[in-house]
Amino acid sequence: MALMTGEQYIESIRKIKMEIYMFGKKVENPVDDPILRPSLNSVRMTYDLAQMPEYQDLMTAISPYTGKRVNRFTHIHQSTEDLMNKVKMQRLCGQKTAACFQRCVGMDAFNAVFSTTYECDKAHGTNYHENFRKFMTYCQDNDLTVDGAMTDTKGDRSLAPHAQADPDLFLHVVERRPDGVVVRGAKAHQTGILNSHEVIVMPTQSMGPDDKDYAISFAVPLDTKGLYMIIGRQSCDTRKREGSEMDVGNSEFGGVEALTIFDNVFVPNDRIFLNGETEFAGMLVERFAGYHRQSYGGCKVGVGDVLIGAAAVAADYNGANKASHVKDKLIEMTHLNETLFCCGIACSAMGQPTESGNYLIDLLLANVCKQNVTRFPYEIVRLAEDIAGGLMVTAPSEADFRDPKLGPVIDKYLRGVASVTTENRLRILRLIENLSLGTAAVGYRTESMHGAGSPQAQRIMISRQGNLAHKKELAKAIAHIKE
Ligand SMILES: Cc1cc2nc3c(=O)[nH]c(=O)nc-3n(C[C@H](O)[C@H](O)[C@H](O)COP(=O)(O)OP(=O)(O)OC[C@H]3O[C@@H](n4cnc5c(N)ncnc54)[C@H](O)[C@@H]3O)c2cc1C
Repeated sequence: MALMTGEQYIESIRKIKMEIYMFGKKVENPVDDPILRPSLNSVRMTYDLAQMPEYQDLMTAISPYTGKRVNRFTHIHQSTEDLMNKVKMQRLCGQKTAACFQRCVGMDAFNAVFSTTYECDKAHGTNYHENFRKFMTYCQDNDLTVDGAMTDTKGDRSLAPHAQADPDLFLHVVERRPDGVVVRGAKAHQTGILNSHEVIVMPTQSMGPDDKDYAISFAVPLDTKGLYMIIGRQSCDTRKREGSEMDVGNSEFGGVEALTIFDNVFVPNDRIFLNGETEFAGMLVERFAGYHRQSYGGCKVGVGDVLIGAAAVAADYNGANKASHVKDKLIEMTHLNETLFCCGIACSAMGQPTESGNYLIDLLLANVCKQNVTRFPYEIVRLAEDIAGGLMVTAPSEADFRDPKLGPVIDKYLRGVASVTTENRLRILRLIENLSLGTAAVGYRTESMHGAGSPQAQRIMISRQGNLAHKKELAKAIAHIKE
């Protein structure tokens, strides 16, 4: 099958009968729901851009496994150039949506599972790599979107999976059958899962021998019996139901997360990629997290580009654009944003092949990248709020602006420079509000903090990968110390 157009993608999701709940009710038509649709539009962008000749090299690649052109979001990285193109593609998608476009998590799961299954098979004589390659080529051939489900709900964070008061707080195998396994548990914060055709489940952390039933990885379609989703609500989300595209700030695009329940879900043998080999859980987590930490050096940078642009427009519109401190703040925002991009590119350029042949990023640099992402977007938002002025949170609604009595008053008093309409000024401020405090802030701020792991997870990796012993040797050599 050729690559899907955006429209074909939307219709393909419409055909999947998913069980989704939001605000205490079952969502019968998620594709056309005003709160959920913007998130679907963001994924759609990954299909639309792949159809455009000017973006073909970035958005697509030739799969060495099928010989066909595939969307890069389903590609297995073959070189450092592929790794760098991934980051550039993510920046582009961030620029076009100013939101989380959700498809990265599946791409990162693809590449982590690809190499981990290869090494697990070598150690244990299992058949997981072949299972995964069959699944991967099916996704490539049909141009599918795949969710990556790692994070368990985890209960008491100080306890291992098997030691939890409730055994279901980490997803686990509850029954082993000749034809497959039955699993139970939940995955939290699942980005874009309702906009996906398939979900790859992975363990959430390293595991010991007592956690055998928890060391499970597999893929199932989203209409699998027993799988259902409860949508996470985002700040200002019900504005999307009010019918004012102006008040939403970015009415076309958005992100979405869901608590996803696996209530005795059956997984057939040929969809299993890990099943009890506990020592490979850690490798899978480390590689997935590494790829995902690289991802943020692209996607958040693209969204940052839009926010920096919006802040500059806001300064133009209120006549502060020539002030030296405003110019300097825009330089600072750009510096921070490009630093993140540097990290994304650097960990890609320093990538190395794994035993399976696909390329893995430099893990130390990927963790440095994500550690910076836990900080810099917050500073970029702070500076954008500074430049925007208070009106970004106190502006009247569009309904007031359209009111025959109030509209002219708002138009008169909320104008900035005379040459720009008040409506345009309000529109750019609403976009800044959306990115700083509204629905997009989920993706730009809190996802920057916790997505791909909370800050401490990167610091642990940095301490492991930083090779302090080597640095001490360097210092001793320079100081002519002989011990
Ligand atoms: C917007 C968003 C999108 C996401 N998308 C996805 C997705 O698509 N797929 C996916 O699988 N996951 C996703 N995640 C989940 C993300 O990986 C987790 O949020 C992250 O790993 C942190 O886990 P948590 O939220 O349970 O926080 P917690 O584990 O509750 O962490 C809270 C704090 O407690 C600390 N802490 C936790 N455990 C310990 C411990 N044992 N010892 C010491 N300190 C500890 C942490 O360092 C942190 O400071 C997403 C998260 C967000 C916010």
